[in-house]
Amino acid sequence: MRRAPTRGLLIVISGPSGVGKDTLIKRLLELDRNLRYSVSCTTRPARPGEVDGVDYAFVSRERFQQLIDEGAFLEHATYNGNLYGTLTERVERERDAGHDVVLKIEVQGAEQVRAKVPDGVFTFVVPPSVDELVRRQVKRNTETSKDMTARGLIATREMEYASRYDHVVVNDELQRTVAEVLAIIRSARERDIQDK
Ligand code: 5GP
Repeated sequence: MRRAPTRGLLIVISGPSGVGKDTLIKRLLELDRNLRYSVSCTTRPARPGEVDGVDYAFVSRERFQQLIDEGAFLEHATYNGNLYGTLTERVERERDAGHDVVLKIEVQGAEQVRAKVPDGVFTFVVPPSVDELVRRQVKRNTETSKDMTARGLIATREMEYASRYDHVVVNDELQRTVAEVLAIIRSARERDIQDK
């Protein structure tokens, strides 16, 4: 008889805008075949190059509200005037299949997940310095200057949440940071197996 796969872990990654979460997660997914990325819903307009259903599911405010009313979200939050949310069904399907699911969410959403999934693995990514964060945001060049100022202010507030996470990782050098987060995930898996 085939043994049911062990249920996958929930891995939450937060950090201020521009810290490099996207690149970090992309590398994690390339290096660890058991990881799955949870594509969020958002009301934010797509940036050039972003693909619907891959980077985000881009939805209208009406549709987002409907999903809230249906209780479809594991968590949802407002960030810089737009709504973002994680669909429970997608996460559960992957976890039931034994895959570890990565959520890239901001701090309010992470608080909601912590209340519902206390055994999740919560990691906060910080920049080596605030100057470096600003430099990366400017380099990305996807936001208007008004938007960048707003994101900078949110980033300062978000940094105060770092101590609430299980792990705080400094994104100083991508390869090193990726290795550190992979080690965190692998040790969480081992702990999870031992607990069962
Ligand atoms: P961006 O507009 O730069 O793609 O994302 C803005 C912020 O929203 C980032 O901190 C990102 O991690 C967060 N975010 C993305 N998807 C979700 C989600 O489903 N839920 C929550 N709470 N935050 C999200």
